[in-house]
Amino acid sequence: MAANLLDGKSLSEKMKAGVVEEVKAFTAEVGFAPGVAVVLVGEDPASKVYVKRIAKTFEDVGMTCQQVILPGDINPASLQAEIIKLNNDPKTSGIIVQLPLPKPLTQDVVTDVLSPNKDVDGIHPVNAGRLYLGQDGFVPNTPHGGLELLKGYGITIRGANAVVVGRSNIVGKPMAMLLLAEHATVTICHSRTKDLPSVIRSADIVAAAVGQAKMITGDMIKPGAAVVDFGINPGEKGIVGDVDFESAKEVAGWITPVPGGTGPMTNIMLLRNTLKAARLNLPKA
Ligand code: NDP
Repeated sequence: MAANLLDGKSLSEKMKAGVVEEVKAFTAEVGFAPGVAVVLVGEDPASKVYVKRIAKTFEDVGMTCQQVILPGDINPASLQAEIIKLNNDPKTSGIIVQLPLPKPLTQDVVTDVLSPNKDVDGIHPVNAGRLYLGQDGFVPNTPHGGLELLKGYGITIRGANAVVVGRSNIVGKPMAMLLLAEHATVTICHSRTKDLPSVIRSADIVAAAVGQAKMITGDMIKPGAAVVDFGINPGEKGIVGDVDFESAKEVAGWITPVPGGTGPMTNIMLLRNTLKAARLNLPKA
């Protein structure tokens, strides 16, 4: 039997309508539109294309997107000065720094000065700590979108056995924290996990964030499980996920398509985070 789709494209389109309304209301109330600044260090053409795509995502819903393009050999103090300038700009609601940075710059150079309240990508240690402690903050958009997809399709998370494959700071770990906060029993797997197939087979919810094309196959999935595939890998006919969709869909109850699953949800969560930051950073009367 074929699984039902966790259709991120369709759910994100519905959520977008709500974002557009909120942007209109904010703009009418405050006198300027919520806006993000995207900081790109260096001239990497692929990153430039990505930044243009982000700008369009924002502009489509009536928000602004300021592109800040800095030389690849900028020194750490100058990069920090640019970020501090954006921290202090009342019309910059959120700040995104395109990662990874060219060496020798590191993510810490950014987070040492980035305001946690403008950290719409959820990379700041303060926001990671808030998530860990169950406090309100900015959650990384990809796992947050994956969680919203499960909730949006009414998947039972409370009490479910959830297996997250991957432990990166930006996808795997925050996904595990989000599922735990929703009362799932969470197992986190990684490259040293023993007998990965049998661990995955115990899962009512599988979240895959590995970066290896089609590594999770249908024979590893418990019948009826919900499968959230964060993977983006180049395939012969376009991008493919970490899950082998064709075999997994015959066993799973629910599954994200790739593309059209977690990707569009990431974008909508970024817009929502920016709206949240816009309200949080309003100048105090
Ligand atoms: P990372 O490379 O940072 O992390 C990969 C994780 O997978 C690591 O924890 C690694 O384990 C684990 N891993 C690697 N090989 C295996 C294996 N054979 N068995 C079990 N675990 C393994 O990747 P990201 O978390 O940044 O990204 C994961 C995927 O999600 C990528 O395909 C990426 O493109 C995609 N992605 C998708 C987004 C979206 O919008 N949908 C946004 C961001 C990322 P260890 O820690 O032991 O090395």
